[in-house]
Amino acid sequence: MKPCRDDRPVTCKFKQKGSSWATGEHSGVDFGTPTGDPVYAMWDGVLTGTSWGSAYGTAWVIDHDRLPDGRAGYWAVYAHLKSKVGKAGTRVKAGQLIGYSNNTGNSTGPHLHVEIQPQPTWVKGSYRNPQPWIDARKDDDMPLSDDDIERIAQAVNRTLGDWTASGDVQDAADDPPKTASTRIRQIAKDTGSRG
Ligand SMILES: [Zn+2]
Repeated sequence: MKPCRDDRPVTCKFKQKGSSWATGEHSGVDFGTPTGDPVYAMWDGVLTGTSWGSAYGTAWVIDHDRLPDGRAGYWAVYAHLKSKVGKAGTRVKAGQLIGYSNNTGNSTGPHLHVEIQPQPTWVKGSYRNPQPWIDARKDDDMPLSDDDIERIAQAVNRTLGDWTASGDVQDAADDPPKTASTRIRQIAKDTGSRG
C-alpha cells in the first residue's frame, strides 16, 4: 500500500542518480509529504527498535514478515519523520498509521523516504525496489521483488522436479500473473523444471 495519502506525488524515484547519496543513486522512493502528514505501513509486519543510522532521522524500521521459502523477509525504513506512532515489538497491519512526516536526518525538505532491504541492517547496494510494496493491496499475496521471485521459482524447480507437469501450472498459464504465487508458478513453468 502507498505509505502516505493517495494524492501525494513521488518526488524521487528508486535508483534515480544523484551526488547527494553515498552510493550515487537513490536507495528508495520519496513522496512529497508536508510536515505532519500521516505515514502508513505498506504491508503487515512488526515495528522494530532497529536503526539504520542518523541519516534517516526519526524513523521506523518495520520487519515485513518472511518470504514464502522461509527465509527472513524484507525490512522497510520510513524515514525523516516528525514523530512515530506505536511501540517497538508490536504488530501493524498494511495501511495502519505509524507516524507523521517531516524533515529529520539527511533531508533537504519535508518528505517521506521509504526503502526496502532484504535483511535487518542497512547494507550498501542491497536495497530493493519498494514498488511491489507500494502497489500491493490488502488481499494480495506477500509482495516480492522480481529478483526474489526468480530465486524462489528456481528453488521450487529444484525441489519439485515434476512441477511443470502439474495441473496447477497449466491453470496459472491460462491467466496473466496477478499475485506473487501465480507469478512464481509462471516462472517455474517458463524456466522449466528439468536440468
Ligand atoms: Zn529518499
